[in-house]
Amino acid sequence: MRLILLGAPGAGKGTQAELICESLNIPAISTGNILREAIRNETAMGKMAKELIESGELVPDDTIVSIIKERLSENDCANGFILDGVPRTVTQAEALDKLGVQIDKVVAIEVKDEDIIRRLSGRRVCSACGASYHLQYKPSREPESCDRCSGKLIVRKDDEPKTIVERLNTYHEQTEPLVDFYRQHDKLIVIEGQEEVKDTTNLLFTALGIKI
Ligand code: AMP
Repeated sequence: MRLILLGAPGAGKGTQAELICESLNIPAISTGNILREAIRNETAMGKMAKELIESGELVPDDTIVSIIKERLSENDCANGFILDGVPRTVTQAEALDKLGVQIDKVVAIEVKDEDIIRRLSGRRVCSACGASYHLQYKPSREPESCDRCSGKLIVRKDDEPKTIVERLNTYHEQTEPLVDFYRQHDKLIVIEGQEEVKDTTNLLFTALGIKI
């Protein structure tokens, strides 16, 4: 299955992408994770992206297109993939088309802005491996350390309140038009993001015909 997950930051795309990835054994590809890793490794791309990410803006389309082109050419994508957080602009979606990337379905996870703000303020990420947790919905076993690697859990710089509002504005202006774009391409499924992760998973897997 070749799938795109659309939705505001904090709608649950990353969490659901991981669950689909485990269930179907296809990779979940997050441009946000790739960029954060580049920032941790202090690469040229990381240095360019850092300020944009921290201020809630998007990284330029040509950078994203070259990341995704390279990642999709890897062997593990041969039987399908889940794109989490990409495309984020109509230009990126058109670039995927031009690259000949076939998409089967696009799922938009809808969550109200006020719920997004509440959710993002409870998010914690591992400073070492990038794993994501939530104080209420997906707590780590130890309050401040990662279940996977014991790294220290921190608040992402772009999950700070001022930046959350910026990111939501960016989402509405630049990414939401993709909902209509994929509706016109007959690929769109819309689900309402639920309070509980497992309830969203139920809706999503049912919509995609995946057995739970
Ligand atoms: P995410 O983890 O998906 O919320 O991404 C974190 C940040 O990385 C975003 O707020 C953007 O600044 C940047 N980013 C990730 N994916 C993209 C994309 N497809 N296009 C532009 N910027 C992106």
